Amino acid sequence: MAKIAFFDTKPYDRKFFDEANSRFGFEIKYFEPHLTPDTATLVKGFDVVCVFVNDVVDEKVIDILVNNGVKLLALRCAGYNNVNLFAACDRLAVVRVPSYSPYAVAEHAVALLMTLNRRIHRAYYRVRDNNFSINGLLGFDVHGKTVGVIGTGKIGKLFTTIMKGFGTRLLLFDHFHDEQFAAENGATYTDLDTIYREADIISLHCPLTPETHYLINETTFKKVKPGVFIINTSRGQLINTAALVEALKSEIVGGAALDVYEEENEYFFEDKSNTVVTDDLLARLNTFNNVLITSHQAFFTREALTNIAGTTLHNVNEFFQGRELENGICSKCDGHNPCPGKPENRICRKTLKKNT
Ligand code: NAD
Repeated sequence: MAKIAFFDTKPYDRKFFDEANSRFGFEIKYFEPHLTPDTATLVKGFDVVCVFVNDVVDEKVIDILVNNGVKLLALRCAGYNNVNLFAACDRLAVVRVPSYSPYAVAEHAVALLMTLNRRIHRAYYRVRDNNFSINGLLGFDVHGKTVGVIGTGKIGKLFTTIMKGFGTRLLLFDHFHDEQFAAENGATYTDLDTIYREADIISLHCPLTPETHYLINETTFKKVKPGVFIINTSRGQLINTAALVEALKSEIVGGAALDVYEEENEYFFEDKSNTVVTDDLLARLNTFNNVLITSHQAFFTREALTNIAGTTLHNVNEFFQGRELENGICSKCDGHNPCPGKPENRICRKTLKKNT
């Protein structure tokens, strides 16, 4: 039976993976640390390595995995910007969980928006302290506002449909237009500059790629509508945080709700309450009363964790059964199905067979 080494594991990972594994019977070892060049040597004797969003699987780590006999890298997440697929190509098969609960993330984005807008996070503490004043808690009606959605994949579409229910004007941006979806939801595909110029609320739902790195930057903030709310549940590096801090200081940005942060690896998912925060940007963000940060928890629902565990172990099982990897990714297909790689030339690892 295949042996799987899990990295960056928390008690909730163990709970959901142990439950799912009762159907598969893999030999699982949970390691708490991140996968790094130092911890990668722990993989000796394992067939599969399973990682999460903040494990950086670069060329050096991949070399260590391959040299220690690892055959499969199983991501228990959708995004794969943390993996060097080119280094893995033809050496290590890579699978992911393309969709586990887009509802979880879309609903969290809306929760962030409404909490920040109506100052619920501040009201909660006031009332607990018997401070019943509502001074400073003024929000705005979301109804009638213009919402810009950047990236209209699974999560972006769900966010759009929820925001339709609020009675908003919806502007969409994506390289791929789903005109039927737009028409059904009274939304319009447009260009980024129009979104920046007209949107009161901008929500990011595109992946992190070289093209989208620092999509929201100093130049963007020169184009946006003053007072705009920015929501990011996608990846931290979509936003240049230093530029965001300046835009918050000058009140160009009226509120920022962030589930992700560009340097989150150091902090997110960990209890750092007894340590000094040395990341000055994160510390500065935390000083704004119109910034709301959650620690990459948008995915964190029972349904999502059940699906993540089930699909991850299904992916591992498919690999060892020698089946084509429906959730495989390689540097050629870049996550898109069907893969345009050339299996016959053994370029695409999605068709990697057992023991090859
Ligand atoms: P998806 O693949 O279904 O959709 C992504 C969409 O972005 C696609 O329609 C794609 O065409 C579009 N896109 C790609 N490049 C773009 C660009 N330059 N500009 C605009 N659009 C572009 O993915 P999804 O399931 O909707 O997830 C979206 C992102 O959410 C993921 O990439 C991941 O980073 C993030 N995510 C975060 C959490 C969390 O817990 N915070 C959980 C899951 C996913």
